[in-house]
Amino acid sequence: MHRRMIAPGALAAASVLLAIPASAASYSPGTPGIGDPYYPYYGNGGYDVSHYDLRLRYQPKTDELQGTATILAKTTQDLSRFDLDFLLDVSEVRVNGAEASFTTSGEHELVVTPKTPLAKGTQITVVVRYSGVPSAKSAYGFTSWHRTPDGGVAANEPEAAWWWFPSNDHPTDKATYDVSVAVPDGTQALSNGTLQSTASKLGWTRYNWRQNKPQATYLATLALGKFDITTGTSDGGVPVVNAYSKDLGDTDGAARASVERTGEIVDWLSGYFGPYPFSTAGGYVPNTTTGYALETQTRVYYSPRQFANGSNTSVVVHELAHQWYGDYVSLKGWKDIWINEGFARYAQWLWSEHEGEGTAQELADYVYASHPADDAFWTVKPGDPGPDEQFASAVYDRGALAIQELRNEIGDDAFFAVLKGWPKEHAYGNASVADFQKYAEQVSGKPLSALFDTWLFQPEKPAAPSVRALVKTGTAVAQPKSWKKIEATNEVHGH
Ligand SMILES: [Zn+2]
Repeated sequence: MHRRMIAPGALAAASVLLAIPASAASYSPGTPGIGDPYYPYYGNGGYDVSHYDLRLRYQPKTDELQGTATILAKTTQDLSRFDLDFLLDVSEVRVNGAEASFTTSGEHELVVTPKTPLAKGTQITVVVRYSGVPSAKSAYGFTSWHRTPDGGVAANEPEAAWWWFPSNDHPTDKATYDVSVAVPDGTQALSNGTLQSTASKLGWTRYNWRQNKPQATYLATLALGKFDITTGTSDGGVPVVNAYSKDLGDTDGAARASVERTGEIVDWLSGYFGPYPFSTAGGYVPNTTTGYALETQTRVYYSPRQFANGSNTSVVVHELAHQWYGDYVSLKGWKDIWINEGFARYAQWLWSEHEGEGTAQELADYVYASHPADDAFWTVKPGDPGPDEQFASAVYDRGALAIQELRNEIGDDAFFAVLKGWPKEHAYGNASVADFQKYAEQVSGKPLSALFDTWLFQPEKPAAPSVRALVKTGTAVAQPKSWKKIEATNEVHGH
């Protein structure tokens, strides 16, 4: 195994050996994964990142990306070696100013051996110089980089960073970001957060974006192409920046009619989830052919396909709900995906109610009634679906149904207090399904383990809930008007 390799030079120099304290035996390599059972090699052990500074240059004609990543981190163990998750070609790595040796291993590991081992609790600065054609790189047989006619886009879940910057790629290691990208004049570069400045020189324009709140790696996005950018401010005071590919053709009107309502929807969601947690909001619609949308922090990624059948504010509600449920509070492990998708879907149900297109209860009834007991739908456990079913429709629909059951069990007052209190409870952090159950029990004063077990953790259709006489009698449940729009927003992922 590659993990047993001793990097050349690491033990050679006497001065290096002298620099190692008496407890040298305690120095060991960081693990190649952060410990997520769904994805054993995602993230890395041994350090915690606080900031990514990415200075990039992109040529749309060839899809070539050059970069220097400066990563600020702190070691969490006595560290002899550590991994970053990355796919592009690396030419140089420095740790605390000194050149480090590096190699690659597995599907996406960049293995870095610093000249001197790093004591636990040390602040480190890692500089990685790299280049490559992201669309030419794949891992596990897929690519999260979407080439477009006029550029490229990085947006996917649970992984997107490997194609454009080296990282500790797991939601539990959040960091702030400065993303600076030079592109030929006439091309725009978009990323998360706020555009700090632009500068033009010798035919190239540099865009400097800043995300000043902690952000999970998969929520970092990069979009390069020809965009029309709109700006505004919501009634609630949230600055909004949206962008539309100049090449959307027939879907341009429907995309704008949906995404331009971002400010209004952010304010509406704030009524349920509390104040918007970031300094800017918005979305972008590149000319990709992928089918999904993604809650990339402060700058949501939408596929034009979301708007192929006309405007769809429901998908905007879903992705903006994630800014609280997913981004502000992120999952602890990928098994906790219900923390994201159950609530983003439930927000769509609330929006349906708001729009007069079916109440949350009607939608819950429809989900329950439209899947017979022998439907494989019920074999998916939203509370722990497994990596292959992580984005199955049951995680969304059965997941939202479980939330309606919770609402019926604890009553509207406690339920809406939970909905609003939860994001603040874990602000800018991570939480699990178990944490949510505990919080709901604490706020409502009711034991909820049976309810959570039945609706989230059993691979079978739960018995009809008593509150729903309609379903109990087996009466056919009419499809709510919002249903097709809601289902059209399901994230269909690239793998
Ligand atoms: Zn979602």
